[in-house]
Amino acid sequence: MSKTYIEAANTLPVYDECDVLVVGGGAAGHSAAVAAARVGAKVIVMERYGYFGGDVTGGYVLLIPTLNWRTHSMNRGLLEEWFTRLDKNAPGSYIGPDLKYVGRDVPYVCDKYEYYEGCVNNREEPHTPLRSMYIEPTQLKLEMDAMVQEQPNIKALLHSWGTKPIVEDGVVKGVIFESKEGRKAIYAKVVIDATGDGDLFSQAGVNSLDSKISDFDHRDDQTALVWRAGGVNYKALALMRMKNFKTFMSFLQELWKVAGYKTVPFSTGRDGVVWFNNWLLGYNCIDLDDIRKSEFLVRNSIRPILDFCKKALPEVFENAYLYDVAPQLGVRCSRKLDGEKVMTSLDFAVNAQFDDVIAWSQTGGNTAPIEIPYSCILPKKIDNLIAPGRHLSADAGAIGALQLIPQCAATGQAAGVAAAVAALDNKTAKTVDIKKVQKILCEEQDVPLPRQANTDKALVEELESINYGRDTDRAKKIRAAAGLDW
Ligand SMILES: Cc1cc2nc3c(=O)[nH]c(=O)nc-3n(C[C@H](O)[C@H](O)[C@H](O)COP(=O)(O)OP(=O)(O)OC[C@H]3O[C@@H](n4cnc5c(N)ncnc54)[C@H](O)[C@@H]3O)c2cc1C
Repeated sequence: MSKTYIEAANTLPVYDECDVLVVGGGAAGHSAAVAAARVGAKVIVMERYGYFGGDVTGGYVLLIPTLNWRTHSMNRGLLEEWFTRLDKNAPGSYIGPDLKYVGRDVPYVCDKYEYYEGCVNNREEPHTPLRSMYIEPTQLKLEMDAMVQEQPNIKALLHSWGTKPIVEDGVVKGVIFESKEGRKAIYAKVVIDATGDGDLFSQAGVNSLDSKISDFDHRDDQTALVWRAGGVNYKALALMRMKNFKTFMSFLQELWKVAGYKTVPFSTGRDGVVWFNNWLLGYNCIDLDDIRKSEFLVRNSIRPILDFCKKALPEVFENAYLYDVAPQLGVRCSRKLDGEKVMTSLDFAVNAQFDDVIAWSQTGGNTAPIEIPYSCILPKKIDNLIAPGRHLSADAGAIGALQLIPQCAATGQAAGVAAAVAALDNKTAKTVDIKKVQKILCEEQDVPLPRQANTDKALVEELESINYGRDTDRAKKIRAAAGLDW
């Protein structure tokens, strides 16, 4: 509809002021808030739903993959803390190989995890365990609540929707938000847009990369509504996938005809329960019509899918029932930040070293980790806004690897530290002392970074021995595709 309405100018109450305002409480935003608070900043974290975790806890993305490279723990920090805390407070709420086994030749550990996709690197001999975990989302929700409540300098605003950045002369000064209390403003020294969809940067005058949202070649431009089935003999399904892949694939082909879209039942880490991950092509997660269609399409298909599964594979699904449907739509990718540095596929092929490195990106298998720079979460034009998480600045070829949960949590944690240091030192997001940020990440927040006083020497030697990953098959393939003859 092209009709318009002119909203009258309005005086808004200022709800609060803070050093760091984080909008969005998913893996990126939650990590940003906790990290900033641990540096000593006064933090407000605003979330449109009633809990933290976003896609992970609310979208039921139950697999957190590959925190290691070979024997090295590459994504530590707040993400590893989720698991150490769950070990203590809710034993049994996730499943995945222990850090001490990763990258090692331990057949009995591989045997234990072979049923769970992504927990064993079977692309190389000998097979080795990967630090990949299947989580129980509600237990993680409780733990994320605790991490926020433990910080007296974090104020959590739940059921509050950040709608508009306050921008003056190219500098972000705060955010207008909507809630049951009406429309109010918050002033902040630094704002972190962790909405995943660039809700704030898109309105602050920052461009989004890619106006083409639905690119069928890339998994990120697809929505999903994940649901779980109980009463399933998961081991029988896993055995079929492992020993009789052809039959498994024919089952999936028939399943996709019934569903009307691609969907696969995966492990949840519990024997009796599977999660139906899905990939809905051509639906844009920032378009209201597509959002509604995605929700209805999947919910309408659940009963036919269960009926089909019971008939097609009674040994697996005979007693299956609908366990639950994720409380929120699974959104993979929409707007992407036009950042100071745009990550591209080539960054995975030349293994660039960045002075402003804030995290490692590791996706497992026959690859090497790559460095993620601060500049890819910094918008080009605007200051005092940082945008970590799945909308960070990357082209269509690079975003697939960079929007995984470990990378979102890691860029979020770094954004939080950078925002806190900027606010407390009276600097801006762009002028912050990045060396100080890196030192805090490494020495106080358990984030392993290269070229720091405490960088793991064994890791450096191993990376040097493979020319920082430039000789991997994947890197060679990317360079060849780009026409680079080296
Ligand atoms: C179905 C599916 C399967 C996936 N599979 C995997 C996998 O196996 N492994 C993996 O590592 N990754 C996977 N991913 C990707 C990964 O889950 C996400 O990219 C990642 O969790 C995103 O984290 P985030 O914090 O950047 O964004 P989100 O998780 O989207 O968090 C954004 C948060 O901001 C809130 N929010 C949004 N807008 C506003 C607003 N305006 N005001 C206030 N709050 C707001 C949201 O409610 C949400 O809590 C998958 C994604 C999907 C959807």
